[in-house]
Formats: sequence, C-alpha cells, structure tokens
Amino acid sequence: MVDNKFFVIDAHCHIYPDKIAKKAAGATDNFYHVHGFGDGTVGMLRREGEKAGIDKFIVQSVATTPKQVSSINSFIAKTAEQSEGKMFGLGTLHPESEDLERDVEEIVSLGLHGVKLHPDIQGFKIDDYRCLKIYELCEKAHLPILMHTGDSRYDNSNPNRLIPVLEIYTDLIIIGAHFGGWSLWEEASKKLSGIKNLYVDCSSTFAWIKDNETVKEMIERYGTDRVLFGTDYPMWSPKTELDRFMSLGCSDEVNRQILSQNAEKVFGV
Ligand SMILES: [Zn+2]
Repeated sequence: MVDNKFFVIDAHCHIYPDKIAKKAAGATDNFYHVHGFGDGTVGMLRREGEKAGIDKFIVQSVATTPKQVSSINSFIAKTAEQSEGKMFGLGTLHPESEDLERDVEEIVSLGLHGVKLHPDIQGFKIDDYRCLKIYELCEKAHLPILMHTGDSRYDNSNPNRLIPVLEIYTDLIIIGAHFGGWSLWEEASKKLSGIKNLYVDCSSTFAWIKDNETVKEMIERYGTDRVLFGTDYPMWSPKTELDRFMSLGCSDEVNRQILSQNAEKVFGV
C-alpha cells in the first residue's frame, strides 16, 4: 500500500463477474486496439487499486443489449454492497429498452450513484432521439451520467453531439470521460469548456498524451473544479495512472479537488 497523502477516488473503473471478466475486458481491448492491463475482476481492481493508494472506486459496466440491463445493475449493486464501503456503483441503461422508466427506478432503488453510457460500444449517437428519454429520466432522478466521449473513427460521441444535450437538459450532470473526447482532446476541451453541467475525467488519456503541459492546459481549460481522476481499469494499471497524474505536479489544493472532492460532489459519495 502506497502512503499517498491524498484521499483518492477512482471515478472510472469497469468490473465484470469473474466468469466472464477476461472475455469482456478482451472485447474492449480489441475495440481500442490496446493490450489491457487487468483481467476485469473485482478482486484485481481492489488489490491493484489499493497497492496504488486508491481509497474508493466508482464501478460500472455497460449493457450491449437491453436484455443485460437488469442483471448488470444487480451485479454492480451487489458488488458495491459487499465492498465494505470501498465501491460505489453506476447503473447501465440501453436506449432500446422496452421500459426505461422501470430501469431508472431500479437503478434508484438499488442505491446506485449514476449511470454509465458508452455510445460507441452500445451503438447510438449521443443526440439520438431514442436517448432523450434517458436524459429526461436521469435529470429528474438526479442521476449523473458518466458518458464515454470521443472517437475520431466514428461520429457517435463527439463534442458536437454532446453540446445540444447539455444545453437542453440543463439540470443533468454529464461527466465526459477521457477529457470530454478521446482522440479528439484538443477539439473537445476547446468546444466543451465552460458548460456548467459538464465535468470530465482524465481516464484513458495519459497513454496518448505524453506531454504533461498539454494535460495541464486541458485541466486549466475545463477548470480544476471540473476534472475527476479515473483509471479506466482494467485497461490501465491503477498505479501507472495515478503516478502519471501525480507527475503533473499540481498544487495540493488541485490534487484534492481532482483526486476526490470533485467526484464526491458529482456522485454524492
Ligand atoms: Zn468507461
């Protein structure tokens, strides 16, 4: 266990039931052409996270069909319940579900802290009319959405599709993963900064942006009260990601904001 003087929340980690973890993690690796770090199990996240000095984890999983929604939400909730207060869960929704109202009610009754959506993997565009119900229901239920954002290979989750949603659902909090636009970092941080219901996380960015100054510029653009730390486990090693974040050399105050306070505020943990 690292003696890190900061309290650290990993606001972006994926977990899967043990018997399918390897396969599920492998599917994501293939989608992004990376060789992922972990096996996607809860046990490994806990071990590797604690070794890195991470105190709490916001865990999530994404349904690729409507049929999976309920069982994934139960798995996430049960994992959080059995974690002795270490893990907090986000639910999953699917735009093609027959009963989104029921799904959102279930997420609320399970005590989950928000919703994770992944347009590129779930196969929808952020501003798709089928998603409007999701935004409306989450806004009403005060469930923040951690949204995968950005992929220059497709046009599902890019900044231009996110902006109108943020403008229409002004009480809906969206956390744009990967600094608001994976593979579109500069464009995203220029277009999306200053939107009051948007936060971003720093996950799955450090492997591509090696230069600390560029990362610090993005943090400045969004504001230090707008950025959450996240590892995107199992894709990356929690320790490598946290070490890289610490190497930015932010002030203690900024470290406290990004490593825990912003996540506490957004997810109510
Ligand atoms: Zn993710």
